[in-house]
Amino acid sequence: MHPVMKPALRRGWRDRDTVQFGMTPAHALTLGPLDSATRGFLDLLNGTRGLPLLREEGRRMDLPAGRVDTLLERLTRAGLVDDARGGGPAAGALRAKEHVLRRLRPDLAALSLTTAEPGGALARLAARRALRVQVRGAGRVGAVLASVLSGAGVGEVDVRDVGRVEPWDVAPGGLGAESLGERREAAARSAVRRAAPDRPPRHAHSPGSGAQDAGHCLVILTPRDDVAVHAPDPADAEQLMASGTPHLYAGVVEGTGVVGPFVLPGESGCAGCLHLDRMDRDPDWARLIAQWRCPRARRVGACDLTLATAVAGLAAAHALAFLDGGSPSSAGTRWEASVPGLDWRALPVRPHPACGCAAARRDADRAKPEHSATDGEPRETMAVQRPSTERRNAGAARPTGTWRAHV
Ligand SMILES: [Zn+2]
Repeated sequence: MHPVMKPALRRGWRDRDTVQFGMTPAHALTLGPLDSATRGFLDLLNGTRGLPLLREEGRRMDLPAGRVDTLLERLTRAGLVDDARGGGPAAGALRAKEHVLRRLRPDLAALSLTTAEPGGALARLAARRALRVQVRGAGRVGAVLASVLSGAGVGEVDVRDVGRVEPWDVAPGGLGAESLGERREAAARSAVRRAAPDRPPRHAHSPGSGAQDAGHCLVILTPRDDVAVHAPDPADAEQLMASGTPHLYAGVVEGTGVVGPFVLPGESGCAGCLHLDRMDRDPDWARLIAQWRCPRARRVGACDLTLATAVAGLAAAHALAFLDGGSPSSAGTRWEASVPGLDWRALPVRPHPACGCAAARRDADRAKPEHSATDGEPRETMAVQRPSTERRNAGAARPTGTWRAHV
């Protein structure tokens, strides 16, 4: 352990004895009271010294016996300390790739705000490099989303689509104007490569697996067809449901951006649940959907470029939340925003009892009373406080299940 105060949070002294780390209520903490020796000691936490040397320095600065360890324990528990050499072998390997880390420094700093354990941020960033994600649909949303995931360090982002690049597919960060007329899939893959020139080599797919989605931690469905965005066809996700592959829907329909639901098969509401719920609520739904899905002459939908970009960014954030081991707020929810205001609203996608995904049955099982796991948990009584009443809400635990992003 070579402790370093997380550089992501600015430091400011509220008074002589009280220091605040961070500016915004979401992540700021205050620490105090601190005597002058302890104040000076904080400056030594820059990642160049191991614990034995820090204890020695503490003795030289006349800190009471045990103060160094107590202080480090408090700072670590508050999530303020990183380990300049920690995170495990994969983190160590990534640390050696300076050119990669330089590009990803802001992402690493952001991860340090949501990982309490020293070395955890780099470990997560390193874990992203081993992940395989598939994006189905390379329009204004899908191609940008795929590029963002690649740029954020996801090792392999596979894009699937058909046809050739049309003028209205072009979007900053996604398909470029120079790719007009190219195969859409190939052009999107080029965009993904450009977003992360330092990405690791592609994994060899498991031979003979037979399963189209084998090895994908996550599949993101970003259809260019606006009916498929508004009313995702459960049949399109049958294989994903059968293989237990987590998947996320995102797209734009008639000036409304949609992110979600994030489907954990058998855990949270799926496209089938959504469809059945709409059938229950709207007696004309089946008639409408049949007309909307009826093939017609090709038309270009209403897809504001800013909205498409916002949808791609939010969907990528939810995907990364899952891939990093958290629980995205789009699980069981569709986030929607419409032009011109783009005020995001959350619409629940509840597990439907008649859906074959069995999420409703699991919900019912969960509703049964059980012991609380948090009883008796020690509470923070040290002098580390939040400067406002807002609390951190980062790293929310994922619901119990079999979902492993890091495969
Ligand atoms: Zn379902």
